[in-house]
Amino acid sequence: MAETKTLIEIPAFVTVRELATMMGVSPINVIKELMANGIMANINQQIDFETAAIVAGEMGYDVVAHEEVVVEAPVDETEKTGWRKVLAGERAGDLQPRPPVVTMLGHVDHGKTSLLDIIRKANVTAGEAGGITQHIGAYQTLKDGRLVTFLDTPGHEAFTAMRARGAQATDIAILVVAADDGVMPQTREAVDHARAAHVPIVVALNKIDLPGARPDRVKQQLSEMGLVPDDWDGDTMVIPVSAREKLGIDDLLEAVLLVAEEADPKANPGAPASGTVLEAKIERGKGIMTTALIQNGTLRLGDTMLVGEHYGRIKAMYDYTGKRIQTAAPSTPVSVSGLDGMPQAGEQFRVVDSEKTARRIIDEAREAARETPTSRGRGPTLDEFFARLLEGEAKTLNLIVKADVQGSLEPIVTSLERLNGGEVELDILRSATGPITESDVMLASASGAIILGFNVDADPIARNAAAVEEVQIRTYSIIYKLIEDVEKAMKGMLAPTFEDVVIGRAEVRQVFKIRGVGNIAGSYMRTGEGRRNAKARIVRNSRLLHSGTISSLKHLQENVREVKAGFEFGVSLDGFEDYQPGDIIEFYVTQRVEA
Ligand code: GDP
Repeated sequence: MAETKTLIEIPAFVTVRELATMMGVSPINVIKELMANGIMANINQQIDFETAAIVAGEMGYDVVAHEEVVVEAPVDETEKTGWRKVLAGERAGDLQPRPPVVTMLGHVDHGKTSLLDIIRKANVTAGEAGGITQHIGAYQTLKDGRLVTFLDTPGHEAFTAMRARGAQATDIAILVVAADDGVMPQTREAVDHARAAHVPIVVALNKIDLPGARPDRVKQQLSEMGLVPDDWDGDTMVIPVSAREKLGIDDLLEAVLLVAEEADPKANPGAPASGTVLEAKIERGKGIMTTALIQNGTLRLGDTMLVGEHYGRIKAMYDYTGKRIQTAAPSTPVSVSGLDGMPQAGEQFRVVDSEKTARRIIDEAREAARETPTSRGRGPTLDEFFARLLEGEAKTLNLIVKADVQGSLEPIVTSLERLNGGEVELDILRSATGPITESDVMLASASGAIILGFNVDADPIARNAAAVEEVQIRTYSIIYKLIEDVEKAMKGMLAPTFEDVVIGRAEVRQVFKIRGVGNIAGSYMRTGEGRRNAKARIVRNSRLLHSGTISSLKHLQENVREVKAGFEFGVSLDGFEDYQPGDIIEFYVTQRVEA
């Protein structure tokens, strides 16, 4: 039986709450659906059209974009690829196979750069030899008639920084392990990062030319990490290679193609292009050059590209060899000029129908950002966790555990794992000894995890990153206290604390009686600012008379969202009428403070 679906029109950006209202459902259901798609969002958070379309589609709505692009229900094939968000709204029939995108991960000096170089050069035709000096953040190579895209910035730092910006560009990770050195701390980190991103791993067992190479010992170490080699009856492909002697490179590429076959990456070449910015720089004579990976659609010269607050028509486009091109298909890295500013690596771009549309989308996003200025970022905190759980926002508590010594790490992990089994799932993304590092913070940020430290602290860089990325770090010196806190968070017993923060002070100068409305306090903003969505309290002679929500905020008869210092305005509060000249109005917001 044909089912009639309700059609809703979604702008470029909506908050979770707005989307729920459009569909007439509870925001909790929307949040749950987002979670199911791997996106942690709170009720006031903005989501872009693509994400909103997936959610709406899955909740049984037909969706129309503002630009009048008809978007259909999402397709399941995209789930495996990790590009699901990018492919929102594509019809299964429109999807075509695309080259896999590969990232090299591994410990420093194990040979990532050398392998990337060898693979890059392996495919250079005589005419191009020596010509490829371009580094645009990615390149492509041909193996058995099939293209493979390599991201050129090796290491999990770049990989995870991108994920933290919301971009998942990688389909397959090559874990490079030097056969003489074996599994090292960053090897473990790389595995954690790839796993947290649900990216399959192929191991390149490098430097087998060295006399000190001990492949079997490395395979043993890999097995201990759960990467059991396929020749040991496991399902991880471990390929012996030597970047120095150019050995095994073909086997490695073959292994990548095999894994790619399983992942079956797809995209719709017929769509307007979208993807991820890899880097941006100013080049002499060319202006701002943006290099980007196309994840869906086809990018054409003259297209209008929109990235965050920047946009522009593409004036020139180059491939990774520096050759001018007119069009570029999915998984192609390109370098383009035409943007009016420098985007950041990891930002998502898309093509819109005109510069006017781009400006409108940017304006709308700015407006919306103003409306929810205090909404928290991505990172959950332990005391928020249960609240999120109740709202359906969270099902899994992601943790990173760092301890001073193995002897304390083990009992902590065992005790934490014992807490599993109930409604809430605990997922320990990483457990390791040593101080809390920036890498831990980035992994936490990209995966929405909380970091627990036992007898260890965060280094200053990590602290800084945690502040920027809004990642919670909690440190303990008593094991049971750590376990207890996690347990309490899972049960919602960790009481959150709130604090009122004054954002502005104003003085009442005149009271206006308005028929049908009530009294309005004609006031002057002395310091800070007043916001329509803040709360306010009335203070008279140092006594608090009233506090509550604001019913109206006006400047020159116009309703406004905020009033800055030095301006006159009219304000009224819900449930209060008795304003007097000389009263102080304090605008404040309630913020959660960390325990
Ligand atoms: P990265 O830090 O992982 O990018 O490692 P590099 O590619 O910079 O390599 C580190 C060092 O190992 C360099 O001195 C390379 O020349 C050397 N190296 C890389 N691959 C091999 C290899 O297969 N065999 C030997 N013997 N040395 C290698």
